[in-house]
Amino acid sequence: MTASGTQNLAADLRGSGLRVTAARVAILETVRAGDHLDVEAIAGGARDRVGHLSLQAVYEALHAMTAAGLVRRIEPAGSPARFEGRVGDNHHHLACRRCGAIQDVDCVVGHAPCMRPITDAGFLIDEADVTFWGLCPDCRSPSG
Ligand SMILES: [Zn+2]
Ligand SMILES: [Zn+2]
Repeated sequence: MTASGTQNLAADLRGSGLRVTAARVAILETVRAGDHLDVEAIAGGARDRVGHLSLQAVYEALHAMTAAGLVRRIEPAGSPARFEGRVGDNHHHLACRRCGAIQDVDCVVGHAPCMRPITDAGFLIDEADVTFWGLCPDCRSPSG
């Protein structure tokens, strides 16, 4: 990570009204560099960058960043919550039932919310959050 990259992370935290700490910068950096990581993996990546960090501190930082819109939390049914740095584009996910692999898939059609329920029940809808379940290429192959 370059110095300017670290500055961007700090600026994003500050711009979202969050206090900038070395731990938070490391956590945000780990989420952005990763691919739908769970909390354990994020804690591991952040510890590689700043040393000791409690799991509780990681949870709290992720909670604050999710609330601030800096990271997105996805919760595929039956698997631990995952976090990603790709926010605000209403993308969806492909999830593997067997190994838990998660992959991004762009908006189903057009712009957010990109699909409409049969009835909106009077709601003003601004997002659709879809998980497509199946088997990833590794799990589909007969040898795997
Ligand atoms: Zn799989
Ligand atoms: Zn994603």
